[in-house]
Amino acid sequence: MASTFAPRLVNGPFGDPGLFVELRWQGSAVLFDLGRNDALPAADLLKVTHVFVSHTHMDHFIGFDRVLRLFLNRDKDLALFGPAGILDCVAGKLAGYVWNLTDDYPFAFDVTEVTSAGATRARFRASSGFRREDAPPLDAPQGDATATTPVLVDQGHFRVRAAITDHKIPCLAFAIDEPMHLNVDGDALSRAGYAPGRWLAHLKDALRADAADDTPLTVARADRTTTELTVGALRPLVRVTLGQKFGYIVDTRFIPENLAVLLPVVRAADVLFCESPFLDEDRDQAAMRYHLTAAEAGTIARLAGARRLKVFHYSPRYQGRGDMLRREAEAAFRGRVDPGVLAELGAAVA
Ligand SMILES: [Zn+2]
Ligand SMILES: [Zn+2]
Repeated sequence: MASTFAPRLVNGPFGDPGLFVELRWQGSAVLFDLGRNDALPAADLLKVTHVFVSHTHMDHFIGFDRVLRLFLNRDKDLALFGPAGILDCVAGKLAGYVWNLTDDYPFAFDVTEVTSAGATRARFRASSGFRREDAPPLDAPQGDATATTPVLVDQGHFRVRAAITDHKIPCLAFAIDEPMHLNVDGDALSRAGYAPGRWLAHLKDALRADAADDTPLTVARADRTTTELTVGALRPLVRVTLGQKFGYIVDTRFIPENLAVLLPVVRAADVLFCESPFLDEDRDQAAMRYHLTAAEAGTIARLAGARRLKVFHYSPRYQGRGDMLRREAEAAFRGRVDPGVLAELGAAVA
């Protein structure tokens, strides 16, 4: 499998949820959820360009302040996406401090609130005391976006989609994928007498953008000279393979309405990161708290055709018994889905 993304959970399975995904060739990263994130080194957190917040229950949002503090005097923007209410939650966090000495700070949050009615966007700039400034919605990426599973970001080298699920409040699940993985054939490169360098990134950008064959490109040669070639002439140097995909599901219920929007988004993920707070014997508790059980997490991964399942966000009541949650999820993932469950889910899994 081509590996562009290096994902890792921010905390252990009993800690606050969060997934850090490093984009290896870009030197950047994206972060899913803002629970406690002290375990992430500042240098890693500072690579983040996009933050995706599932919802603002405390265990998913208390880490906002550390991000704010780290980024405050940096010359960059941070894009943040969240469900209905996120704009008020960000404004509320920012209103908890006094900003009379940040006039010359360039940092800004660019926040997009994702609802089934569409996206609303606002900027919060340090230089204006983080006052909310309404902004036009970002260009909606094209593709198979629908209101319930919109594409939030499409940057060519990565794309993020969301599903709006019911957790008694709207809660977003996400998938990040690389629509097209481009691999340079090193042998062909040296046979042709070219040297690796920035021009390869430009070539990949051109291929992703479907540039015309006669598009010119400056190529570095092994003898340290450069030469002008076309995208068409260079195309054979690059192999196109299927990119990676990772799913992230937290705080949701195992009901047909949720599965109907979740499954298309996380379908065929290489790894599905899924909450697994309760054992199935406690499924009444899980349902009451609008959460999944381990068996339900396993069933979702199976129905989605995920290659691997990584469960986390365990309830503290199972401290010392985390292995039971993992095993129950794995058994459901590897096993057959109960026909009764399938019948109950009906069209959601068809
Ligand atoms: Zn929650
Ligand atoms: Zn939670």
